[in-house]
Amino acid sequence: MSPKSAVISVIGSLNVDLVTRTPRVPVAGETLTTESFNTGFGGKGANQAVACARLSRTQKQASSGEASDVDVRMVGAVGDDEFHKGFLKSLQADGLGTKGVKILKGKKTGVAVIIVETGTGENRIMFSPGANYDVQVEDLVDDDAAVVLFQLELPLQVVLHNMKVAREKGAETIINPAPAIPLPDEAYNGLDHLIVNETEAAILSGIENSTSWDEVASVFVRKGVKNVIITLGGEGVYYRTDKQHAQSQPGKIVPARKVQVVDTTAAGDTFVGAYSVAVARWKSSSESTEFDLDSAIRHANLAASLTVQKAGAQSSIPWVNDVPSS
Ligand code: ATP
Repeated sequence: MSPKSAVISVIGSLNVDLVTRTPRVPVAGETLTTESFNTGFGGKGANQAVACARLSRTQKQASSGEASDVDVRMVGAVGDDEFHKGFLKSLQADGLGTKGVKILKGKKTGVAVIIVETGTGENRIMFSPGANYDVQVEDLVDDDAAVVLFQLELPLQVVLHNMKVAREKGAETIINPAPAIPLPDEAYNGLDHLIVNETEAAILSGIENSTSWDEVASVFVRKGVKNVIITLGGEGVYYRTDKQHAQSQPGKIVPARKVQVVDTTAAGDTFVGAYSVAVARWKSSSESTEFDLDSAIRHANLAASLTVQKAGAQSSIPWVNDVPSS
């Protein structure tokens, strides 16, 4: 890897998805023949790491092992079970570094058992965190990281500790706090980028049914967040910076691209990945220029609009050359 690569460390979860599609869920004691069963590699951490990798290299570059200007590293844990080898191989095929993934002896890789009721389209998910919850509170941040990206599928203390370490080491910190739980103020103080969807924004800000995104964003900015990004599904993205807040300027909405929606799974992860790549490139080029937040959001919006046009989770995350220039 070239020494000039912008390093993104994704400190997050790795889960195997076991997906059963069935017209209805069985009642207690019943055996039901389903429509289909599939396995896939997922977890918010791994999905976002894959998005960072694919949105900073072509598939050809990844499969030939050719270096990209962005070096994406997955940090987390799997068990030494039947899943881990295939999981790591699949991440490596996307061009990801996996040295930071610990293989824990005698532990199970995290699993999400997902039942999709095809009649209603409703999902039922049983998440067994396994090795993800065995990640210890210790320094997991590489010294050369330009960006450290977090979610909330690891123990909260691991996330909070490493957010602090990442700030101390001078990396840009990005968090997509999913699944959302109210966070202590230390999570927001000095946080560079907060990316939430509408539900997460309501849970974390404590403001339900707000008619003003500026009001919601202000809660986070007052706690020390520099860039607040709220993804609004088919409506696009809202953003507001601490500077806009200080000058009493409203935030801005970037509309989503109008596309034929097939499946929105992983749209948020794709958005976060594309955005993180833009931050990493800026951070490792020249910090004297201001980060072009608007362009980063427009590009991430475009990338995510491709994901919603395809079924599946990781399989629907595009490669950089699939994304049209904005
Ligand atoms: P998910 O959990 O499904 O991955 P999310 O709830 O985290 O997604 P959303 O706000 O639903 O995040 O979507 C993230 C981004 O994906 C949006 O800001 C937008 O760029 C794109 N997107 C989502 N839905 C649509 C849509 N219907 N049409 C076009 N783009 C979309």
